[in-house]
Parts: sequence; structure tokens; C-alpha cells
Amino acid sequence: MDLNRRDFLKGAAVASVVAAGSLAVGCTPAEEEPAEKWEYDVDVAVAGFGAGGAMAALTAQKGGASVVCVEAYHQVGGTAMDSAGGATGPGSMEVAQANMPYSKPEFLQTFVDCIGEATNVMEEYDAFIRPGAGGVGFTIGAESTHKARVECYEDLAEKFVDGGGVLLMETKAFKLLTNEDGSIVGLMARKSDGTEIKIKAKAVILACGGFQNNPELKTKFFGPMGDQVFCRAVPTNDGTGLLMAKEVGAALSTGLGTFYGHSMAANADVEFMDFYEIGSQYHDNRCIVVNLDGKRYYDEGAGVAGDMNNLELINQRYARGCVIFDQNIYDEWGSISAGGDKGADRTAEVIERGGRVAKADTIEELAEKMSAWGYHKANTIKTVKEYNEAIDNGTTADLEVPRTTGLIASIIKIVEPPFYATEVVCGVSCCYGGVAINPNGEVLKEDGVKPIPGLYAIPGTAGGITSAHYYRSSIGAAVAYAWKAATCALDYVSAGQE
Ligand SMILES: Cc1cc2nc3c(=O)[nH]c(=O)nc-3n(C[C@H](O)[C@H](O)[C@H](O)COP(=O)(O)OP(=O)(O)OC[C@H]3O[C@@H](n4cnc5c(N)ncnc54)[C@H](O)[C@@H]3O)c2cc1C
Repeated sequence: MDLNRRDFLKGAAVASVVAAGSLAVGCTPAEEEPAEKWEYDVDVAVAGFGAGGAMAALTAQKGGASVVCVEAYHQVGGTAMDSAGGATGPGSMEVAQANMPYSKPEFLQTFVDCIGEATNVMEEYDAFIRPGAGGVGFTIGAESTHKARVECYEDLAEKFVDGGGVLLMETKAFKLLTNEDGSIVGLMARKSDGTEIKIKAKAVILACGGFQNNPELKTKFFGPMGDQVFCRAVPTNDGTGLLMAKEVGAALSTGLGTFYGHSMAANADVEFMDFYEIGSQYHDNRCIVVNLDGKRYYDEGAGVAGDMNNLELINQRYARGCVIFDQNIYDEWGSISAGGDKGADRTAEVIERGGRVAKADTIEELAEKMSAWGYHKANTIKTVKEYNEAIDNGTTADLEVPRTTGLIASIIKIVEPPFYATEVVCGVSCCYGGVAINPNGEVLKEDGVKPIPGLYAIPGTAGGITSAHYYRSSIGAAVAYAWKAATCALDYVSAGQE
């Protein structure tokens, strides 16, 4: 069979890959090791080819390692493909500590030290990127479109394969393999047709995201409303990385109940790759958001892009709320994304896709319509009235739930009819808690001190790094730690060969 690079990306069968003679230098086909069947024998195996996994795979390859990467989804790039693509980070420890005050300094130090290294790798691979916000890190894609972001990672995947790497698409890692002393010797993965493959690897890097799409783990770690939380990430991020690591004795990090996300239109038919443009109600930090009691529950303007309000939404009944706004906010902000670019008319799209949007000429009428969804009518009317009065009086900071401008929001009176209410549900894009690692990205044993030899993990499979502070940096943290983990894995592999 005549295979080309695209066949790798489409998940060509292992046997076909071997037949095509396209394995990376250093990969040994199974036949050479009759005692135990390994489909691949490499220096480094990477689980996941999202922004972090791609960085880990390319860094390891650049350092001379043979690398196999398994990617569970049918598209490369992971969650970042449906994001603003900002892979930024703090330019100094001062900035890092000011913006992520609860993080351990040693974790921030790796972030600060390695975000530039990760950017260098992207530049060396001539990736389609733009400068990062504030001059630190990079922004994915030659321009701010989903197409450009996907192009960036498809191009990197091709370069990885051209460089001798093996990329197996729609292939999910599900088990880590260890020897008698607990050191990692490889992993097992399952292809979409159910075929299991065994990869022998001196080091394994887990870059397979968090547990965004695992209702049991979300309930366990996020709390009673966890299973209601919308997976605002690639659907393959189902916590397998965490579970695999735990099975071989890994400790879990702090902050397992914290995450980054944005509230999403409830009940609307939105899928991955619709989240940035349509599902995310990015204008909510200029609006009032009420819970089922018709009350505000958090400062809508806090945080970067409504992320703090979303984090609090999980503590409201059914993790739901209603975003209330007027025609002025609709016109000004109804199609502006968090990144500031203009996109689809989100409200119209949500209606089109079956989401709950009410429209009325008065707040009383709007509250009446919302009451049909279970929202307390009298409280809703009172909340809007008090909010508008506080703006008139300059006393929004004195409201029972204070209102500030936050980083990018503004405080706007809700007075121009018609009025709108969009029902939203809490969404998770990135888990801040996960497998416990040290600042080198080495996965720690249950004692929380000693590393499991040969096992590495990066955020969001790894957790406890940025301590519930988004700082527009979940992709940034992933790529910075991916560079660090791959660099340490290279040292580990070469030390083992001495
Ligand atoms: C609308 C939106 C806007 C956002 N904007 C930004 C932004 O501007 N800046 C920012 O920093 N963050 C942003 N984010 C968040 C950011 O995209 C994610 O936090 C980031 O991509 C990291 O996600 P992750 O670590 O969970 O893994 P991912 O990037 O999703 O990567 C994990 C990869 O592993 C694969 N995988 C999962 N399980 C397995 C397995 N068992 N075996 C093999 N492969 C597996 C997945 O398919 C995926 O490709 C945004 C997110 C969304 C949805």
C-alpha cells in the first residue's frame, strides 16, 4: 500500500505503517521482539496531540528522540482549535505572582522560564503563529479564525511525521505499562475499530487534557452539580490521563474542584468548534446574570472573560443562570468574542439551535417569560431595578453582590428595549486540578515527593499549577510545561542509555 503523510493523520493501521517502512528512526516493529508483542518501540510516547502534546512531541523529536504520539480525536490541536488561541504567559515572576497569587512560586518559575522556549520551538518549526498578547508567548494561527488555527496544527503534524515521528489518529491511550520497580515501560492504546496496540517507550508524556467530559469525575471533584457542567472542550478529554496515572500510583494535585471555562447557552445544539463563536455568551460580563432565585450571585465583571462568574455558576441550582441584557448590549457586544474579534450574532444562533432566549418590551414581561423556566419573577424585576439604580448612584460596589469592571468588562444600564434573557449553564474548558507533578513535569507518586520514573504530565492532565487563575494562560501553561517535560524526558532517556 502506498501511504503518504495524510494517511498517518487519518489513522492508518499500524500494520500498514510498518509495511510502508515509514517508522521513525529508532522505532522497532513487533517482529523483532517475539517474546512480547510491541507494535512500536520508541524513546518517548506522547498521549494527545493538542497544543501541549504537539509541543511535547516536537520538542522530544527535535532533541533526537524517536517519538510515537497517539491522538484520540479525528482532528489535531485539541481544545485550542475552538479557542482564541492565545498561548501566552507571564513575562516575569513579578507578573506571575501578581496574577496567580495562590500558585507555588516554583510552578510559576517553570511557566515563566519555559513559555519563551516553547515559542522558540514554534518558530523553529516555522509554525503559523502570531505574537502573544503583551509580547509573551504566541497566538495560534496566521489569523484569528478556526481554519487558521487548525491549519497551524495540521502543518505541525505533517512536519512531525516528516521528521520521522509516528502520529496515530483516533487512537486512545488507556493504560500505562510499568516494570517490577514501577518505572514506566510504555502504554497501551485503542484504535477506533477496537484494535489494541502496545507501545514500548522509555518515557511517556501525558498530554491528554483533563476530565471535562467525564460526568463521574466532575461530580466527584467539582461537587454535586458537576455532572451538569457542560464540556466546553474537545469531547475526547474524558479523564483517561488522570485515571491511567492513578492506576500506576500517581498522586493527585490540589485544586481538583477548580477549572477555567465560560458559561454556555443552555439546551442549544452546539458542538465542539461552535463553542468560541456561538455557545459562549461572551457579552455576559457586561450584563446581569441571575440564578433561579432571580438574584445576582457573583460580580459579572470579575476575572478575564466572565470566567470567575462561570466558576461560581456551578454553586447555583442546576449550575444554571440567565444572562439579562438590552438592545444596546446586544448591538454593541452580542457578536464580539473574548478575543475582541467580531463573529456570529450569538443570540440569533442560540435561538436557531434550540436554546432558551426570551425577548420582551419590558423587564416585567421578560421576568414573566423567565418564570416559565423556573426563575423567580419578583426577584428578577427587583434585581434589575436595583442594579440600574446603583449605576445611576455610582454605588455598584455597595450592591449586595458588588459589581466592578474587572479586566475587560464595563458596567452598562439595562434600559433600552427590547430586553433579552439567555439561559446559560456552567462550562468547563480546562481543569486546573489533575495529576500531581513537580516543576519538571514529572508525575509524583502517592507520597507526593518521589517521581514515577519515566512518567511526565502537563496541564490540563496535570494540575495544581496556576491555582484557579486563568490569566488567559491555559494553553500557555500547557505548552510551557510540555517543553519542560519533554526536555526532562530527553535527559531521562539519555541517562538510561549511558
Ligand atoms: C471557546 C474557548 C476559548 C478559549 N480561549 C483560550 C485562550 O485564548 N487562551 C487559553 O489559554 N485558553 C483558552 N481556552 C482553553 C484552552 O483551549 C484549553 O484550556 C487548552 O487547549 C488546554 O486544554 P487541555 O489541556 O484540556 O487539552 P487539549 O488541548 O484539549 O488537548 C488534549 C488532547 O488530548 C487528546 N486526548 C484526550 N484523551 C486522550 C487519550 N486517552 N489518548 C490520546 N489522546 C487523548 C484530545 O483529543 C486532545 O487533542 C479556550 C477554550 C475554549 C473552548
